[in-house]
Amino acid sequence: MQKTTHFGFKDIATEDKQDMVRGVFDSVANKYDLMNDVLSFGAHRLWKHYAINVANVKTGDKVLDIAGGTGDLARAFAQKVGDSGQVVLTDINAAMLNEGRKNLIDKGTCGVQFVQLNGEQIAFADNSFDCVSIAFGLRNVTDKQQCINEMHRVLKPGGCLLILEFSKTDNALLEKFYDFYSFKVMPELGKIIANDEESYRYLAESIRKHPDQETLKKMVLDAQFALCEYHNLSGGIVALHKGIKAQ
Ligand code: SAM
Repeated sequence: MQKTTHFGFKDIATEDKQDMVRGVFDSVANKYDLMNDVLSFGAHRLWKHYAINVANVKTGDKVLDIAGGTGDLARAFAQKVGDSGQVVLTDINAAMLNEGRKNLIDKGTCGVQFVQLNGEQIAFADNSFDCVSIAFGLRNVTDKQQCINEMHRVLKPGGCLLILEFSKTDNALLEKFYDFYSFKVMPELGKIIANDEESYRYLAESIRKHPDQETLKKMVLDAQFALCEYHNLSGGIVALHKGIKAQ
């Protein structure tokens, strides 16, 4: 029997998901940053700022950003680790990675390395990085557990995993507003600003299909992280999971 998975609310063949996700990000790449600011009212900057502070990376650290897209985290990490450190910005999608490269050059960030890769198969050696991050990327990955396992593998003992992702709010009023905003307003804004209603409908649907805070925490612990804690942001609309690899 053919294996299936979800693409937003649609059930599709597992083998098709990667290409369909690629299609979404090919389509939105050149408007991605603008749409992020508009759709989140700029809040994505605060969520990322929070993640960077929780990461607590130091001068000289090695950091890997998975599904890094247009490079917001990589740029902030590069400032923290300095010239003696290393930041690798990765993404499966060449168009997104290219936007990331342009952004970093425009903003004067030097020294970041760019690698096109799938988060399910991270082409780096075991125990290589002090910190591995993935922001708003995991819900697009077909095999999320495999991606978390891989992030665990490439972290050094004692290293820190950060997963910043949309999650579940337990505030009924906020949920009502958020549903209306996600399913009615977001696709409409996608149509007006990026001429792409479907990609923004997928965005809203993929958020609803993503594991909630406790399920994701269990997945992190299943990947053999010694501990995992999460921080709810904006009432749980977003959550930051932090995992630590055993020493
Ligand atoms: N991290 C950036 C940010 O926070 O602004 C970009 C997030 S964007 C919503 C999701 C990114 O995940 C896209 O750039 C997409 O190409 C990437 N992506 C999707 N599936 C992936 C996979 N299997 N491996 C690596 N990156 C993937």
